[in-house]
Amino acid sequence: MSTEPDCLFCSIAAGSIPADVVSADDTFVAFRDIDPQAPVHILVIPRQHFPNAAALANADLTLTGRLLAAAAQVAEAAGLTGYRIVLNTGADGGQTVDHVHAHVLGGRQMSWPPG
Ligand code: 5GP
Ligand code: ZN
Repeated sequence: MSTEPDCLFCSIAAGSIPADVVSADDTFVAFRDIDPQAPVHILVIPRQHFPNAAALANADLTLTGRLLAAAAQVAEAAGLTGYRIVLNTGADGGQTVDHVHAHVLGGRQMSWPPG
């Protein structure tokens, strides 16, 4: 499994940078976003480093599907009956941390279009 020494989310997964972790297993870590955009805003990351969702999907479809399942489990554990899962991809897509992460957002009515 590859990780990147200078990657913020690899460091959070390794425990060398603190985060408010809500769940973790051998494959994924879920932790609260430092700048929440909804009452519930949790990030779900694979421990393995992939720069974005496209790179993950190109490399490992099974892990891609498991990331979606992990995000849904995090939402259910948070008590959400409706929620949004977001995978910002690339700078133009709003991605600011280059380690794939699924945002799980909920606890309020989510607007559409997202803006
Ligand atoms: P992106 O913009 O790449 O889709 O999402 C990155 C997210 O990571 C942002 O929502 C941002 O608030 C969050 N974030 C950035 N740095 C940290 C950090 O050090 N800790 C935590 N928990 N979240 C962070
Ligand atoms: Zn990383």
